[in-house]
Amino acid sequence: MRGHNGAHGVTRPTCFGSPRPPSLTHYPSAKHKAPGKIRAPGTNDAARARLLSGTWRFVCGRAQTLANRTGHLFNAPVLQQQTLNRPATYSGVGLHSGNRVTMTFLPAPANTGIRFRRLDLEGKPEIEARVENVVENNRSTTLAKGNTRVHTVEHVLATFAGYGIDNAIVELDANEPPIADGSSREYCKLVQAAGIIAQDERRQPYRVTAPIELEMGDTVMTMFPDEVFKITCTSSDKQGRFTQLYSVELSPKTWEQELAHARTFCFFEEIEYLITNGLIKGGSLENAVVIRDDAVLTNEPLRYADEFVRHKMLDIVGDLALLGRPVHGHLIAVKPSHSANCELVRRIAAQMRKPLLAAQSFAPPAAPGLPPPGATGAQEAASTEGGMDTLRLMQVLPHRYPFLMVDRVIKIEGNHIVAAKSVTVNEPYFQGHFPGQPIMPGVLQLEAIAQVAGIVMLKRAENAGQLAYFMSADKVRWRKPVQPGDVLIIEVELTKMRGNIGKAKGVCKVQGEIVSEAEVTFMLGQG
Ligand SMILES: [Zn+2]
Repeated sequence: MRGHNGAHGVTRPTCFGSPRPPSLTHYPSAKHKAPGKIRAPGTNDAARARLLSGTWRFVCGRAQTLANRTGHLFNAPVLQQQTLNRPATYSGVGLHSGNRVTMTFLPAPANTGIRFRRLDLEGKPEIEARVENVVENNRSTTLAKGNTRVHTVEHVLATFAGYGIDNAIVELDANEPPIADGSSREYCKLVQAAGIIAQDERRQPYRVTAPIELEMGDTVMTMFPDEVFKITCTSSDKQGRFTQLYSVELSPKTWEQELAHARTFCFFEEIEYLITNGLIKGGSLENAVVIRDDAVLTNEPLRYADEFVRHKMLDIVGDLALLGRPVHGHLIAVKPSHSANCELVRRIAAQMRKPLLAAQSFAPPAAPGLPPPGATGAQEAASTEGGMDTLRLMQVLPHRYPFLMVDRVIKIEGNHIVAAKSVTVNEPYFQGHFPGQPIMPGVLQLEAIAQVAGIVMLKRAENAGQLAYFMSADKVRWRKPVQPGDVLIIEVELTKMRGNIGKAKGVCKVQGEIVSEAEVTFMLGQG
């Protein structure tokens, strides 16, 4: 669940690199009250009456983190996929419905991912925790498939992602997990009760290959390539009073000690709206920190001085799990929201598909027992050599009959490529070029050189999915006529690649003799 709506007037941090500049961490303890002490809300407010009506309890307590009690789980980087060792069950109240909900975490086979299963519906339908199934981001993340829905999945997903659990089934007898204390603390206890075991299959984290940027309203997010998963986040309320900044490298240890206990927070002025709209029937100070003006209403002391921004990061960990595999990169997030988090996941997924497309198009068929092409990303795709049939060619080139001037690629070695085109009497241009004495138009041989040159450029993973536009041709020579029945061999050497511009030298041969040649320049761009 997110803490608040888009805020204004955030104080931008001057240094993202340092983990907690004290000057950027504001909460009202210094001037007003120590964390955890309760300051009563103002008078004459309907929401105040509700706050004090019994659902909301003001109980001071001492913060005690699970990590302090139990130490940490599993610090070493894990290469194998993981699941739970045994089922574990927890019952509590659903935030939206206010009803009792029972949730069970179950082990699942490798490559299952995380799935929610609704026991209260006929057929016990399941929903995969994937961004494709996200249907709503109003204060929390909701998944749906057909008529089946599960609300507020992010704190559960964050728990699995935080501990590095790849595969699990989450059984529910309602449409949302129990909200517990508004953090992931109870879910962590559940995982500890269940235990974690390694599976035979290897985990395949996706490493961001180039910065991914996102701007949505006040939200700015950029994900940079990195060897690990780091989050640097800053957030604030509408008046910029609670500007906080925190930075962490995610590991099971940091998850459990630094993020998992951070509770959902909301603003006092929002409560009336939420209650009126039935958004938090199960809401209370048991499961949220309430900010009223410059005071913090909570039934126990703040668990971290910068608990609000840490909860935002907990939400990010949960939402980014919707990618379906761990991600490596450094995310800088300014005022994140669930909708922005999910949009970022879509953009990461789009980047992930690019090298996969290139790898699938250029790699030779996988030998039995080898992982599928694309499994290890762009570098492998870029170094793969081999031929291509027409079908694979058409995954790379946008051209189609009658303007696909290449039938197959015979070989690609570095920047050198050899391709072939069988010239048949059925080619449409022979009808008019010229009846009685059919000759393949020279400009189409030029087009063939440009298309083949484009294949080498598009072979680079970062260019996959783009189109090659013909810009110019120099030193064009047509030496001999090409006739029906000839097999045109097109040999191209890519001589220059700078940015999205490429230059290439090409010759067309028939039976070993040069029939045409040219130097072409082309540009890559989005279609
Ligand atoms: Zn949340």
